[in-house]
This record gives sequence, C-alpha cells and structure tokens, in this order.
Amino acid sequence: MSVNLKDKIALVTGASRGIGYFTALELAKAGAHVIACARTVGGLEDLDDAIKAAGGSATLVPFDLADMAAIDRLGASIFERWGKLDILVANAGMLGTISPIGHVEAKVFEKVMNVNVTATWRLIRSVEPLLMRSEAGRAIVLSSGVAHSCRPFWGPYAASKAAVEVLVRIWAGETQRTTLRVNSVNPGPTRTAMRALAVPGEDPVTLPHPSEVAAKLIPLVSDEVAETGKLYLVREGKFVDYREPE
Ligand code: NDP
Repeated sequence: MSVNLKDKIALVTGASRGIGYFTALELAKAGAHVIACARTVGGLEDLDDAIKAAGGSATLVPFDLADMAAIDRLGASIFERWGKLDILVANAGMLGTISPIGHVEAKVFEKVMNVNVTATWRLIRSVEPLLMRSEAGRAIVLSSGVAHSCRPFWGPYAASKAAVEVLVRIWAGETQRTTLRVNSVNPGPTRTAMRALAVPGEDPVTLPHPSEVAAKLIPLVSDEVAETGKLYLVREGKFVDYREPE
C-alpha cells in the first residue's frame, strides 16, 4: 500500500539509527517533513543526507530525552514553526541491562524508566495539543513483546514497555471522540544495535532489517487508520487488543 503523506509534519524520536532512522526516511519518502530527534548528531546528519537524496526534507533536533524541559521546548518550537503536528513516532528507547531484577543497579533502572516511560509521557503531554490541530493526528509508540512475555532478566526494559502500552491505551481512551488515533507497536526482533546488545550470540542476518520494519510502520500513521488504543504486531501484520472485557 502506498501512503501519501504530502504536507504532513512528522516527529520521530530515536532517528539516529535503527528502526527510527528508517522510519524517518520512509516518512520523508512518503512526502512528510520529518522532525528527527536523537542525541547522536552524526546519525541525524546521515539521515538528513539520505532524506535529501530521496527528495525529502527534515529538521534535525539533537537532544537527550532525559532533558524533560527540552521536550517541552520542542512542542513549543513545533507550534511556532508549523502550528500543528500530524504524526508522532515515539520510537527512542534504551535496553538497560539484562540481569536478574535483584541485581539491577538503581541508576540503570531509573534511567530506563526515565527515557522509556517518563520521556514518552512528557512527549505526549508536549505534542498532544499539536496533534489535535491536525486534521488526522496519528501517534505510534514503540513497545516490545517482552511487555507481555515477561521474559526473565529483561525486568526494567519489559516493565517500561508495559507502562508505555498502558499510557497509550489511556491516551486513546481519553481522545477516542477526537480525530486522533494512537497505538502501540511491537516491531518484533529487528537487526539493530539494541537487539545486538540484548542477544549478543544471535546471528543478525537471521533478523529483519530495520528498513523492512519501517516500511510496515508507515500505513499505521496514514489517515485511513481507524484503530486506537491497540497494539500492532508487525510480524503478524495485525492489530490486537489486550483489553480485558469490562
Ligand atoms: P537502537 O538502539 O538501534 O536505537 C535507539 C534510538 O533511540 C537511537 O536513535 C538513540 O539515539 C535513541 N535514544 C536512546 N536513548 C536516547 C536518549 N536518552 N535521548 C534521545 N534519544 C535516545 O534501537 P532500535 O532501533 O532497536 O529500537 C527502536 C525501538 O524499538 C525502541 O523503543 C525499542 O525498545 C523497540 N524495539 C526494538 C526491537 C528490536 O529487536 N530491535 C524489538 C522490540 C522493540 P541516540 O543514541 O543517538 O540518542
């Protein structure tokens, strides 16, 4: 399915490498102007070159998501420059350490929660009014299968992703009567730096390249998406609903 995102403004966090990089590139190829965030300036500049080569356009915003005030300023800057935001891809995340819960260092646990959960909430708070100014605001937030599988030794990361999915479901409930649609996404194991850190013995060639995953994320931010508050499983190619019946 070819998605036309001409005249859309899209914000992508974690755009310096991995899934975020290729999602930003795909969004730009589909016509969106991409606001690309991450700490690594070199990665963002590589992305900018790739986007320009593909005939697209981007604005680079290098900053650390642990800087909550910077997230607030980002929302204000987007409002001043574009007056709206059409697409949010909250993709940035960190793994922390793989170890028994009782062995996780406090500073690691706090950092994972800060970057994966608190920054995601802060980002939602910062850009929600801008997404509401779009005719068809769309947000996707990257989660992980471990939020449900509760795989031993993945404690901080798994807990952070479960928290993010809950935030998305609540946000979706609060905005259900608006044109905004917000969903979580489980990309499945993907050939990136984070996956190599998490599963060092694995042959990366056995995993999908992040560009393959990115191509499957673009339809999730199109005007046609009707689902909200769901989890999209990239490998299965479908939305699922983990909500308990009330
Ligand atoms: P990578 O580690 O390859 O990329 C992570 C991105 O997040 C980088 O661009 C990094 O940029 C950015 N980032 C990390 N910390 C910060 C920070 N403090 N401030 C700003 N940006 C930050 O990860 P993936 O591409 O693999 O993962 C992308 C998303 O997909 C994550 O949310 C991950 O949890 C999820 N996911 C990935 C899976 C996989 O198998 N790869 C499986 C399931 C979920 P920089 O370092 O330049 O700041």
